Amino acid sequence: MRTLNYGAYLIQLTRLPRAFPVNFYLVRDSDGLTLVDTGIPGSAPGILAAAQACGLPIRRIVLTHAHGDHLGSVDALRAALPEAEFIVSARDARFLAGDMRVNADEPQSKLRGAYQTIASKPTRLVQDGDYIGALRVIAAPGHTPGHIALFDERDGTLLAGDAFQTRAGLAVSGTVRWLFPFPALATWHKPTALASAQRLRALQPARLAVGHGEVLEQPGAALDKAIDEAVRLLSKEQGYGA
Ligand SMILES: [Zn+2]
Repeated sequence: MRTLNYGAYLIQLTRLPRAFPVNFYLVRDSDGLTLVDTGIPGSAPGILAAAQACGLPIRRIVLTHAHGDHLGSVDALRAALPEAEFIVSARDARFLAGDMRVNADEPQSKLRGAYQTIASKPTRLVQDGDYIGALRVIAAPGHTPGHIALFDERDGTLLAGDAFQTRAGLAVSGTVRWLFPFPALATWHKPTALASAQRLRALQPARLAVGHGEVLEQPGAALDKAIDEAVRLLSKEQGYGA
């Protein structure tokens, strides 16, 4: 497992960095660590070792969304860390329990990507504006209906999950990068993902940390470009659809 440090708080952990990079993050907080996403199955030993190397306990496990490459090691981690909170958005928590219905007030698009049920029950459900330690929850639906991002107001780090990818070039969720198309192909509703991207951009993040790809420092200009591209592609698609 690859481990990289960014600034005072962020540690990026990566499985399969060359072939199919899957990231998850340890964030230093005043009482220990918050783990954001858990990777594919088999990631727990590496996560626990990385926390031990910090000399800090993992207090909280948070999922950005309910896809298998983000929740794959939750059950193993819960077994190893029974005291840690397990935190999920109220909306995506329903998928974890096997309820795959789309709400009447949501876009009636097909759910995509590898949703998966797990044995672990969340100990806390969150929504937009809540705080998880130092991290502010930002609703960022689109990739999944209940996708969340986490904003570290201490240094402007945005943990965006799959709302963006940086592998094969920064892209809004739903914009296909043919060298790494998987996050785009797993996106539920592109217009919603684009609106979320614009909302995340407005936070003016100083650092962007995503589920797939490298961390980007001072991502403002690259975000603008990716959002412009998504606007263009979407208006083209909608034009053809009309
Ligand atoms: Zn993913």
